[in-house]
Amino acid sequence: MASSPELRERNLGLVLTAICQTSRSGGQAQAAAPSRSQIARLTGLHKTTVSQLADELLAAGLVRELAPAPGGGSGRPALPLAPAPGRLAALGLEVNVEYLGVRAVDLSGAVAAERLERGDLRGSDPARVLARLGRLGRDVIARLARLGTPVIGAGLALPGLTTTAGGQLALLNAPNLGWRGLDLRPFQEGLGRPLKLDNEANLAAAAEARLAGPSAAERSFVYLSAEVGIGAGLVSDAALTAGLHGWAGEVGHVTVDPSGPVCTCGARGCLEVYAGRRAIARAAGLPESAGPRAVAAAIAAARSGAGGPAAAGFDGVVAALAAGLSSVLNLLDVTQVVLGGDYAVLAPVLAEPLRSALADRLLAARWGGAEVTVRPARAGASAALDGAAWSVLDRVLANPAPHLRVARSPGAATGPAPGSATGLATGPQTA
Ligand SMILES: [Zn+2]
Repeated sequence: MASSPELRERNLGLVLTAICQTSRSGGQAQAAAPSRSQIARLTGLHKTTVSQLADELLAAGLVRELAPAPGGGSGRPALPLAPAPGRLAALGLEVNVEYLGVRAVDLSGAVAAERLERGDLRGSDPARVLARLGRLGRDVIARLARLGTPVIGAGLALPGLTTTAGGQLALLNAPNLGWRGLDLRPFQEGLGRPLKLDNEANLAAAAEARLAGPSAAERSFVYLSAEVGIGAGLVSDAALTAGLHGWAGEVGHVTVDPSGPVCTCGARGCLEVYAGRRAIARAAGLPESAGPRAVAAAIAAARSGAGGPAAAGFDGVVAALAAGLSSVLNLLDVTQVVLGGDYAVLAPVLAEPLRSALADRLLAARWGGAEVTVRPARAGASAALDGAAWSVLDRVLANPAPHLRVARSPGAATGPAPGSATGLATGPQTA
């Protein structure tokens, strides 16, 4: 049993996961990178086993040895291990109501290449938009191939309900794009890489969960992703709660008033109607189609002080959000809300009033003395792209064995030739 290939593969995954997760803290790779003894402690594996497996990962170029930490005492210095940049990457892809995004992330977490094209994609033609996204993705794959970095797969973040049940690869409904019933297998074929699909809020929440600290309260949260619609990812102990169909977290369609206006989902009085981008624009006295400038107007209104109609309108947004969210937080027994998308921008005027309103309604706060936290996301504006790329890289961490050979011959997985000679708008950059 101890020498079975399955066990070796599993242990190889444990070692690579320990190296990548411990080394993930931003620019402090050197300080955080674990030695072989530390990996043995983290994984519970014998140090000899760890050394053998680490040597395999080193030979494949998936990890690298860093200079020994200073002040290590006498004897042979322990060499910290870190994921190797540029040896293997995955694509995060996103169709947002306001942009198309492509981001290649490698095992070290560095952004190897990136493309972003802004535009208003409400009511757009999915065939044309997906053809454009496919071209952007293939451009990045080809560019990385020239740099010797194979792209092993892609994750696609969409603002709606997706399914992979029964071998499907489909978007069922994205109301704010006006897209419905799309088979994405032809897109996968065109990209020439295995494709994973998920809701953008789930992927953004997963990216945020990667940055969670060690405390139990910090590792559980509701991540809100708000733009035209309001999505959410439910995270418990740093793991996403996906639900039976992967659709958990549709906070935007929690009922605030059953006799309210009709929502894009077909029901009445959903939270999205009272606290989404259109409602924020209305509250600020702008047309519903105002777009991102509604957020800036709402910040100005909230700062203008009490009394004005715009400030009162913004209070209404906060009240609706507190009403809808308190049910969700009480159901999950979670006390932390992470603000993403528009809400992250609104955080300076949104976080405190929302926290205060939630503290009045949360059982854990009222009876358990728990602290309610409302804070902007750390994962940034590209959280869904990062989460989409990591949804693919996490498979490598779970089982690196099939990738040892790919990583040794980096030119092996080149994609189709780029469509034009114009090159990339954004070159390779570090995270
Ligand atoms: Zn709805």
